[in-house]
Amino acid sequence: MGKASRDKRDIYYRKAKEEGWRARSAFKLLQIDEEFNLFQGVKRVVDLCAAPGSWSQVLSRKLYLPAKLSPDKRDGDLPLIVAIDLQPMAPIDGVIQVQGDITNARTAEVVIRHFDGCKADLVVCDGAPDVTGLHDMDEFVQSQLILAGLTIVAHILGEGGKFIAKIFRGKDTSLLYCQLKLFFSVVTFAKPKSSRNSSIEAFAVCENYSPPEGFNPNDLHRLLEKVGTPSGEDDLDCNSGWLEGPNKVYIPFLACGDLSGFDSDRSYPLPTVADGTTYQSLDPVQPPIAPPYKRALEMKKASSHGIREVDNI
Ligand code: SAM
Repeated sequence: MGKASRDKRDIYYRKAKEEGWRARSAFKLLQIDEEFNLFQGVKRVVDLCAAPGSWSQVLSRKLYLPAKLSPDKRDGDLPLIVAIDLQPMAPIDGVIQVQGDITNARTAEVVIRHFDGCKADLVVCDGAPDVTGLHDMDEFVQSQLILAGLTIVAHILGEGGKFIAKIFRGKDTSLLYCQLKLFFSVVTFAKPKSSRNSSIEAFAVCENYSPPEGFNPNDLHRLLEKVGTPSGEDDLDCNSGWLEGPNKVYIPFLACGDLSGFDSDRSYPLPTVADGTTYQSLDPVQPPIAPPYKRALEMKKASSHGIREVDNI
């Protein structure tokens, strides 16, 4: 698909370039914020799986830049934003970057060190594996990212804090909901308007972090395993036993973003240019520095050269 054609078919892709966002995902966080007022009182944030960085840009524009421009702010008062990804990211004002795997304990330690004993108010995780198309497998890998996010949350989020995580809707959604409910008094699954209806993605918006009394982050896995098992572990108030039949949970699911706003599944005509010239598609704001597909493209290019050379002989 050419750039102009994509501009027409994907209004959020076009708007992202016009407004200077590195990815259309920025609108998802903005629309979740519209509904849940995420940034109120937030001073310290962790952005997990942040590349190419549009969520970090949102955090920078909403939290860091206003604080930096405020006349009565000193350096020590500036919000702390730490972003992590497997991929390198171009710099963003006020965002500390860590390149690493969030499922690796050492990455979590580096993040925690940046907080220097302080607690975060918000952790966001837009992590997604390279989707294989095998739904169960994709959902499983996605759940591992959420689990890694929750592990970091358990070490770093302050009481009352919020956690936003991308989820893939599937057969284990109820289980995930119950697991998150162990730690947050309010959990809502949200579908921002900029997330296509055809996509199984949604976002868990978890508010008011309040882990069980005496909770030790090292017990996280044991605690999560208790949810939804038929072993009669009924000390967990969300569910005891299987999440089926009378125990089935009904998950609060919310569409968010201006519902009369742009529909991500519709095509929109390209803007008309006043002086009669043809519409020029904008370049992406910040192409990825080292995308995972870069090596594959290089190999493909090298091998196609090889074939041409053979053809020429
Ligand atoms: N929120 C980002 C933005 O607005 O630009 C987009 C995130 S993109 C949908 C998903 C990201 O998850 C990718 O950059 C990928 O590298 C990252 N990711 C996937 N698995 C990861 C892991 N185990 N550790 C760190 N990052 C991971």
